[in-house]
Amino acid sequence: MLEGKVALVTGGSRGIGKAICLAFAAAGCDVVVNYGVHSLNAERVKKAAERLGVRAMAARADVSDRTQVRNMVARCLKAFGRLDVLVTNAGVWKYEPIDSKSQKRLAEAVGVNIVGVFNVINAVVPHMKKRKSGVIVTISSTAGQRGEAFHSAYAASKGAVISLTKSLAVELAPHNIRVNCVAPGWIYTDMTRPPLRSPERKTILSLIPMGRVGTAEEIAGPVLFLASDLASFITGEILNVNGGAVLCG
Ligand code: NAD
Repeated sequence: MLEGKVALVTGGSRGIGKAICLAFAAAGCDVVVNYGVHSLNAERVKKAAERLGVRAMAARADVSDRTQVRNMVARCLKAFGRLDVLVTNAGVWKYEPIDSKSQKRLAEAVGVNIVGVFNVINAVVPHMKKRKSGVIVTISSTAGQRGEAFHSAYAASKGAVISLTKSLAVELAPHNIRVNCVAPGWIYTDMTRPPLRSPERKTILSLIPMGRVGTAEEIAGPVLFLASDLASFITGEILNVNGGAVLCG
């Protein structure tokens, strides 16, 4: 589905990002596995992608740091000569009541989930514009649509990802660059393991019509679809992948 193409996936060393890297590799796409700190995991994903018959590289960059992101994109272009697909998957989800004194989660959520997404898109778009071709898939969340108590900074940042996606879809359409978003519901990963292994699990499941949480692979499939030519006339869309959760939240 993506033979001969090159994709950059942020936060690709584990969880949903890892599943996206491997789904893309299985679809014939070379992958750049961005990571912030998990270098060993990123190397493992790189090797797993290579075993699927594509070229891969692990690329360190804190997405909230514009200079690091620019350098990473330059390294990708040097190694592969092109970037066809960008998936802005890196994200942080932290508990913080609104009346907490530090509000340090706000800075983190904004830095990674909003500024980080801007930084990567900003660094990749000039290349895509030059080639008059590209696909961007952002990752939001059900929280970005219905809010999330005790995670208000996260929910606000993921709402911003949705409006960013819609804005850029229109801005970049004349350049033949499609911009879409996947909004996952509860997916079992390192990020969500603590609540999903706690008594809270019962409440969480009761709010999902399909009665279960999803897997990282169940997000990777829809991302692959949006990145592929099967979605060639889709832009500005928010694809909910949540077992029906937004319907009853
Ligand atoms: P995860 O914590 O397993 O993965 C997040 C990845 O982002 C990690 O590899 C982490 O190192 C990376 N990352 C964080 N900060 C970074 C930074 N500054 N620079 C570079 N990389 C950074 O979580 P996940 O569940 O795989 O989440 C992936 C995406 O899906 C996130 O954007 C998350 O908000 C979103 N999401 C997840 C769920 C879920 O239930 N798991 C639900 C909705 C949305």
